[in-house]
Amino acid sequence: MIIILHPDIDKTDPKYQQLINYLSNLPGISFRIHEETGALQTLTELYLIGDTLSLDSATIESFEVVERVVRVSREYRILGRHKDDSRASEFEYNGIRFGQDNLHIFAGLCAVDTPEHVEIMMKALRDSGQQCTRMGAYKPRTNPYSFQGHGKECLPYVFELAGKYDIKVIAMEITHYDHIDEIREALAKSGSPTGVMLQIGTRNTQNFELLKSVGRQREFPVLLKRGFGITLEESLNAAEYLASEGNRRVIFCLRGMKTNFADPHRNLVDFAHVPVIKRMTRMPVGIDPSHSVGGRLAAPDHLLDIMHATVQGVIAGANMILADFHPDPAKALVDGPQALHMRELPWFLEDIRIAREAYERRCDVANAYSSI
Ligand code: PEP
Ligand code: MN
Repeated sequence: MIIILHPDIDKTDPKYQQLINYLSNLPGISFRIHEETGALQTLTELYLIGDTLSLDSATIESFEVVERVVRVSREYRILGRHKDDSRASEFEYNGIRFGQDNLHIFAGLCAVDTPEHVEIMMKALRDSGQQCTRMGAYKPRTNPYSFQGHGKECLPYVFELAGKYDIKVIAMEITHYDHIDEIREALAKSGSPTGVMLQIGTRNTQNFELLKSVGRQREFPVLLKRGFGITLEESLNAAEYLASEGNRRVIFCLRGMKTNFADPHRNLVDFAHVPVIKRMTRMPVGIDPSHSVGGRLAAPDHLLDIMHATVQGVIAGANMILADFHPDPAKALVDGPQALHMRELPWFLEDIRIAREAYERRCDVANAYSSI
């Protein structure tokens, strides 16, 4: 059960204390207070755990400080979408709103290699009206002898160039909780010219200690990749780990499932699950067509499979796209063969615009028919 209080509740108000006393005396029930401070107001929610079935919602709603009560099913208590649950399915970070109803594109480098390549990428994004990017500094690699990413050494120039080109949010994978401090320090040293969305890769979806550390901090939102070899339920529980520790600003990103049936693609594209995640949870849903398809194959219609996969996700309502680009893919240190080329950026963006428009028209038609 979730008890949603009226905005901007004063914790010293005796009416608030009355509710807290009442809840504290309920046998077999414990609760946790969660506060979310937005630009305009502070929202307070109380999460009740234990035998809440026997509790009467009307009694709790009769406390003056209570706005409403939501009964949650056992699954995904915080991030789930429950019956009569009108809690927000969006969040804001560094001036950008991420919701289940809009779309942001994070095109960028799978792995940062040189300041020149970072600058070419950021400038191209700025020139085409983009405010987000992806930049890999810490790379989880299958082979211990492969390039592991420049790590904290590259952060100063990545952040500085992001500021120079008005990039507001960088999706950056971390593989260890120390990386959070490294990012925080580098951002502070450079005067915080940009923001970072911490990415948890598919190999770490069930690294529970990492999830807990990332969940405990609320400064940076999180991009959580679906685990490539586990059930959807297990991946959604991983997202709930983040929220249960306090951070509910989470985007859930589909990136294809590992199976030989995906051949010749790197992973089996799973973007038909975009509406499934939206129905089950309140998280915005991302897609990563680059790691799903994993190569630059093209169909006889001249469209690359990566582009086909992208628009399949967008036309199904995806809210975020993570895509690998590189100014000189032959020299890329990671995943060069799947990188889109800089001259393909306007084409890619136009293709996405077409699909997004089609999605919005599909929603209009659905609204018209569902109200008949
Ligand atoms: C990545 O986005 O760079 C990446 C390694 O993705 P994934 O964790 O989905 O393999
Ligand atoms: Mn990669």
